This record gives sequence, C-alpha cells and structure tokens, in this order.
Amino acid sequence: MSTTSVKNVANQFVCDLVAYEPGKPIEETARELGLDPATIVKLASNENPLGPSPMAQEAMRNEIDQVHIYPDGGGYKLRSALADRHGLEIENVVLGNGSNEIIELLCHCFLNPEAELIAAEHAFVVYKLMATLFGAKYVEVADPDFIHDVDGMADAITENTRLVFIANPNNPTGTLVGQDALDRFMDRLPEHVVAVFDEAYYEFLEDAPDTLKYVKEGRNVCVLRTFSKAYGLAGLRIGYGMASPAVASLLQKARQPFNANAMAQAAALAAMNDGDHVQQTLDTNNTGLAYYEKAFAARGLEYVPSVANFILVKVGDGDVLFQKMLEQGVIVRAMRGYKLPEWVRISVGTQAENERCIEVLDEVLAS
Ligand SMILES: *Cc1c(COP(=O)(O)O)cnc(C)c1O
Repeated sequence: MSTTSVKNVANQFVCDLVAYEPGKPIEETARELGLDPATIVKLASNENPLGPSPMAQEAMRNEIDQVHIYPDGGGYKLRSALADRHGLEIENVVLGNGSNEIIELLCHCFLNPEAELIAAEHAFVVYKLMATLFGAKYVEVADPDFIHDVDGMADAITENTRLVFIANPNNPTGTLVGQDALDRFMDRLPEHVVAVFDEAYYEFLEDAPDTLKYVKEGRNVCVLRTFSKAYGLAGLRIGYGMASPAVASLLQKARQPFNANAMAQAAALAAMNDGDHVQQTLDTNNTGLAYYEKAFAARGLEYVPSVANFILVKVGDGDVLFQKMLEQGVIVRAMRGYKLPEWVRISVGTQAENERCIEVLDEVLAS
C-alpha cells in the first residue's frame, strides 16, 4: 500500500492557495458564543440590510413548483432583460453563479503559468486567489491613498499580461476611479490584454463612470455586476458579465451548463424591476454612510471616505477589535488579510444596526 500523501500528488497551485475567509456567519457566531442569533448584527459581508426585494421573493415562490426542471441554461429571459437595460445585445451578457464565478471564468479563459494578472495593492482579494489557483503571476500595483493608480497599472503591463482587474468602487477601500483616468487607461490597453471592471457596487454610485461604452466599442473588456449587493440576493448566487462578443463567447464556453439556477434567474429578473426597493436601499445606505463618517470623525478615528455600502476605519488592532465586538454580538470584518491589520471594514446596516455597532465600538475602544 502506498504511503504517499494526497498532498504530494495534488495540483501544486491548489496547495499554494490560502482559502478565502468570508464574513463570519450569524449562526456560527451564535453557536460558538452561546448567543441568540436574533440579537446578532452582521455587518461583515456588504449585504443588503433591507433584505431581498418583495418582488424577487414573489418570483421565487412562483418558481418553487418547477424546480424539478433544469433551469434555462441559456438564461434567455434574464440575459435579454439585462441587455435591454444596458443597451447591449444578448450575446454581450454572461450569467454567473455570483460575479465571483465570472472572475474565475475569465481566469479559465486567459490564465496559465506564463500569464500575468495585474491588480491594485488593496484590491478585492479574490483576484489574487484566482491567479494563484491558475499558477499565474500576480502583479500588485501600489494604490496611494487607497485609490487604484490606473496609470501605474498600465505601466505594469508586459507581453505576458492577460488580465487587469479594476474594482470600481473597490472593496474593501470603497474608493472610485473616475472617467478620465479610465479613458486614459483604455487608450493604453494593448490588444493582448483584457480589462475587467468589477462593478459589484455600481448601483450605489451617484455619478458612475461609463465602462459599457468600451463594451459597445468592441474593446477587450468585461464589466462585472452582481445581484448580491444593492439587490439583496447574495444567498442566491447570481451575477453577470458584460463583454464584447469575442470575450463573452469564450466565457460561455468555459462555464458549467446550468451555472445560474432557476430560482436565482427568476428572482434577479424581478429584482431588476423593483425600483422602489433599490431606492430604499440607496436611501438607507446614504443615511448610514453619513452617520458612520460623522461618528468616526467625532471620535478622531481615521476612515476612508466610501462611495459603496461599507467603510474602512482605523482602530488600532483590527483582530482584537473584531473579536471583542463579536463577543458583544456585532460582526465586522478584520482586514489583516488585506495587509491592513489596524483597520476593520464595517458594512452599512439599518440605522438601528449602525447605532448598535457604534455603541459596541465605543465600549470596546474604552475597555
Ligand atoms: C461582493 C463582491 C463581488 C461579488 O460577489 P458575488 O456575490 O459573487 O456576485 C465581486 N467583486 C467585489 C469587489 C465584491 O466586493
């Protein structure tokens, strides 16, 4: 019998991977600390504090008695609606099991051990995980003041570069790159590189830059959006990419046949048309962001002004603060994984949740 450990025969790229650490779940926190789940406030994963749209809930209920049938693998209704909404053709739209899946599909299509992926120093961590998984070289470009330096990112492009990720606004920093800088970047983008604009928080923006124009011009770009954040459907796993037909058709080949499930497709289609729910979400978020900024300023805490539904604040030892707040039933996100050990990221909740968060923060900082 062989004594070889499976580790010795596993794909080295997988062995090298540091697993993604999600926001701590409410149920797990309740179990570990003996707390009542109903009293726990989770502000750790940028979820919608108002819950899913009532119209999406209704659409899901209508779908229940048909789930013995495979979903429309072509996602016709949802892709058509998304194409109409954005002035695109259905061929431009690719559905994903969350927009995270589209990130992985892009890597399937364009990465290998010779390829390079460029991202910003404090970019969304999934890009680095995916580069590692595919054995590609991860090239990190400094982002002074937590803002992507897209000129520096263009400078970093080599003949081996295949993907450049621009998270706009970025998570966890909440900062945005403006139109002029994006145009300048696109002017310098060579034909052998695909620019990916990760716009998971797009709906929260008041003055959003236009990246779909690059898709319409047929450039090598992919714009990522999701139903997980403003639309409140994170648990369903549904997101999409909008890309030139050349890029989109590659992504379609790389995906699983039924990657977007039937409940998710139905709910997303309904949520898209629930303008009231989105508006309430934005109002709640604007109130909450203003509340946090004022609260941090009053306490002399440094923070990064955010245009998204979360905010980064400097607290001393982020891991300790996270743990102490957790014990009081408030879940925030420590940022050591982003090389920001002195910071935590707080998602904007309902006003009651935000006030509870600051109350607990005060208690912990005073102790
Ligand atoms: C939350 C998030 C996503 C995607 O989430 P999905 O739930 O997979 O759609 C993508 N990019 C960034 C920057 C995010 O913060």
